[in-house]
Amino acid sequence: MAAGTIVAVATGESHLARRLQPFTTTIFATMSELATATDSVNLGQGFPDTDGPDELREIAVAAIRAGRNQYPPSAGIPELRRAVADHQRAWYDLDLDPESEVLVTVGATEAIAATLLALCEPGDEVVMFEPSYDSYAACASMAGAVPRLVRLHPPHWTFDPDELAAAAAGPRVKLVLLNSPHNPTGKVFSPEELGQVAALCTAHDLLAVTDEVYEHLVFDGSHVPLATLPGMRDRTLTISSGGKTFSFTGWKVGWVTAAPPLVAAVRAAKQFLTYTSPAPFQLAIAHGLGLPPAALDAAATELAAKRDLLCDGLDALGYEVYRPAATYFATTDIAPVAPGQSAHEFCLALPERCGVVAIPSSVFYDPATPDAGRTLVRWAFCKRDRVLRDALARLASGGA
Ligand code: PMP
Ligand code: GLN
Repeated sequence: MAAGTIVAVATGESHLARRLQPFTTTIFATMSELATATDSVNLGQGFPDTDGPDELREIAVAAIRAGRNQYPPSAGIPELRRAVADHQRAWYDLDLDPESEVLVTVGATEAIAATLLALCEPGDEVVMFEPSYDSYAACASMAGAVPRLVRLHPPHWTFDPDELAAAAAGPRVKLVLLNSPHNPTGKVFSPEELGQVAALCTAHDLLAVTDEVYEHLVFDGSHVPLATLPGMRDRTLTISSGGKTFSFTGWKVGWVTAAPPLVAAVRAAKQFLTYTSPAPFQLAIAHGLGLPPAALDAAATELAAKRDLLCDGLDALGYEVYRPAATYFATTDIAPVAPGQSAHEFCLALPERCGVVAIPSSVFYDPATPDAGRTLVRWAFCKRDRVLRDALARLASGGA
């Protein structure tokens, strides 16, 4: 055994590589475990408590029974690659070659990791909006890249265009990583904001990576893929996932679409991460993408009502509520109901106090700025109405 290993054991130092030490356990794992341990209503991790369409489940089951159980092609089964290309054409008028411009991944999570690993040299910078989904900084770090953060400000999660322009102009900036609709805020970037991002990408010859996993969960406004803006088709990698659209988050089927050289680069990374993605679920999601448009919008219609149920309830309890335009999540400022408390303290105490779990949004900010998002809490409303009502009743009786 190497001497270094023995010293590490003897000193109790972490075995985790330094570049990953800030990341350890995700907040979603921590809070879901806490929800189970305390028998709390879990409004933390974003997953629906009812499954998606039966017909998709049946296709996955039938695919297993029919023997679709060995390695599918690394880039994804042809049926799904074709379905993704057809979907992009039907919804956004984007023409893609399923062979060379679509790559299937193990959820959007792998797509994000493989993309950053494929595109970034150590020391490259990635412009991203803060708060940001937690895997972005971790994956940038795995790639040796450095986030350049541009702050979104409540109540409407606007940003300062000059701040974005300054961030994008840095000499080491490789790409802009955009998430619209946005987790955790539920913001849908406006056409003007997308235009600002696109203009900077073309002016500085940057790539863009867009995480659009909530593309079909929009309540106010509409989703516009960055790749549809002038000059962006061949410099944008678009990431999405079947998990959100069809309420099967545990299936982990995602994809990346982009111009052939970009997809080839991401495929090179993906093949050494997982090689391929589960075949039966790919088949089911391919079928789902081909359903009539109303079926893909069905979840959004139901979710809009759930958003209102939860937001109205939290508002009545005295929280400052930032009502989202999309996604599974509402953000609140807890300052009016828990003066002086940080979101972290509040969320750790909440399960014991009321039997409810939520996510401190401070985890979506750079730890180097500990005051950022200090009193913001994210609540998932992708739950049955009676579960949301139960959570609100628990919060009311627990004094939160
Ligand atoms: N991006 C965002 C913004 C997310 O909220 C999530 C979580 N669903 C993911 C990516 C990961 O998606 P998947 O479950 O398909 O890996
Ligand atoms: N995207 C989900 C959320 O924001 C979590 C997915 C995960 O646990 N990695 O809640």
